[in-house]
Amino acid sequence: MPTAAAKRHYNILVVGGGTAGITVAAQLRRKLKTYDLAIVEPSQKHYYQPLWTLVGAGVFPKQQSERAESAFIPRGADWIQESVAEFRPAENAIVTSGGQTITYDYLVVALGIQIDWGKIPGLAEGLGRNGLCSNYSYQHVDYTWECIRNFRGGTALFTMPSTAVKCGGAPQKIMYLADDHFRRVGVRDRSQVIFASAQSALFAVEKYRRTLEKVVARKAIDLRLQHNLVELHPERKEAIFEHLATHERVTIPYDMAHVTPPMSAPDVIKQSPLAGPAGWVEVDKFTLQHPRFPNVFPIGDCSGLPTSKTGAAIRKQAPVVVRNLLSAMRGEPQARPGGVRLRGKAAGNVSGRSIERTPQHVPAQGLCPPPAVLGRDAAGARVTPRLRNIAQQSSGSSLIRKNPPPLFAVIPSSRVPTSVRAESLESAPAVPTVAATDDPVFREDVGFRVPPSG
Ligand SMILES: Cc1cc2nc3c(=O)[nH]c(=O)nc-3n(C[C@H](O)[C@H](O)[C@H](O)COP(=O)(O)OP(=O)(O)OC[C@H]3O[C@@H](n4cnc5c(N)ncnc54)[C@H](O)[C@@H]3O)c2cc1C
Repeated sequence: MPTAAAKRHYNILVVGGGTAGITVAAQLRRKLKTYDLAIVEPSQKHYYQPLWTLVGAGVFPKQQSERAESAFIPRGADWIQESVAEFRPAENAIVTSGGQTITYDYLVVALGIQIDWGKIPGLAEGLGRNGLCSNYSYQHVDYTWECIRNFRGGTALFTMPSTAVKCGGAPQKIMYLADDHFRRVGVRDRSQVIFASAQSALFAVEKYRRTLEKVVARKAIDLRLQHNLVELHPERKEAIFEHLATHERVTIPYDMAHVTPPMSAPDVIKQSPLAGPAGWVEVDKFTLQHPRFPNVFPIGDCSGLPTSKTGAAIRKQAPVVVRNLLSAMRGEPQARPGGVRLRGKAAGNVSGRSIERTPQHVPAQGLCPPPAVLGRDAAGARVTPRLRNIAQQSSGSSLIRKNPPPLFAVIPSSRVPTSVRAESLESAPAVPTVAATDDPVFREDVGFRVPPSG
């Protein structure tokens, strides 16, 4: 049940009870015997935002994405139903909107991203009527479907701002779903679909950009890059863009417009000592620890991590935060990942086991014992002097990364089955280790995976 702070001090304070905050709190609940944790979250409701794309496309009613926040507060956690009004990390404290000062030993910052509706004149006032819609507002998300369903031809405009947004794919996904609907009901041949984006490319990730360009061409979508939406005139159904290269003003009249609004870090973070230069919470992208306040762990959309701002990214970040937070509580050094992707024989098929992907453990300050080394060199020998050497220099992730094809794995010995250990590993004291990285090789994986033998 929501409370004012039941206490003035918590071992762990999680601020923000959205995807990231709840995930971390729930995972900690499973790992900690003594659970002295509070979640600061003002909202009575929790929203599964990825569903909003499908709500806008008429597949689900929006109510399906809404749950009571209380249903997600882990057992044993206190829920402080207030907002964070101020961060005071030098005093290990936050101040709530109700004026309470709460101190902590460890802080998890998960406030999400702020939607700056007010930055586009005409947007906040015009949204939800006259063909102006946005999937980024729970209040209006069902109006997107109304616009798509009632579209009888003309111009359907979809926009993308110059800022970071949550789910970089969502501004396009709704456009493709709309295009599909227009084709099914036979209005596509009398309509123009425009994607006006402030970005200089259709998508940030090269591999997907190339494919999406083909999709846009196939669907005859009019792609206008470097078009930054600066003003809306909902009554006249006109959108005004600034061309970011020429600074020219371009007016696009529309019959329906789906707007992805500009976004930024929450103001309370921007104004706090936790913020980096761009306003996001500063974070070591490997350990997910704040570089200046080591008892602070940022996660999710509000963090300065160089990942996409998505629930998918959080799914990979959360175990890292949890593992490294627990390490910090035990006074152990933080793990810094790196490493190589290992498959099949290249991974060293020892005792019938193949280690697929293995992050390298790199001690934050050179404090960790060397991890174990498992592998084969090109000649098939098991632990060679070269591998041994690499293990001893285990802080040199670049050394290992510069060595394709990967022929070895560096893993903490505690994670290796005993049979394997006896056979081929240099022993090493167990080190708590986990990995997160923006390396595309590792994007899909965090931590260690030793597939079952067989
Ligand atoms: C239309 C749309 C489509 C999407 N599609 C996908 C998708 O397909 N796949 C995907 O992975 N992701 C998708 N996402 C993104 C995903 O929903 C977010 O990245 C994710 O929810 C971010 O989690 P978070 O915990 O960082 O922020 P949130 O889940 O937004 O939670 C932040 C929480 O902090 C609280 N808060 C805010 N300010 C304060 C304060 N001052 N004090 C205390 N609490 C505060 C808020 O009330 C909120 O509960 C989509 C998002 C949208 C809007």
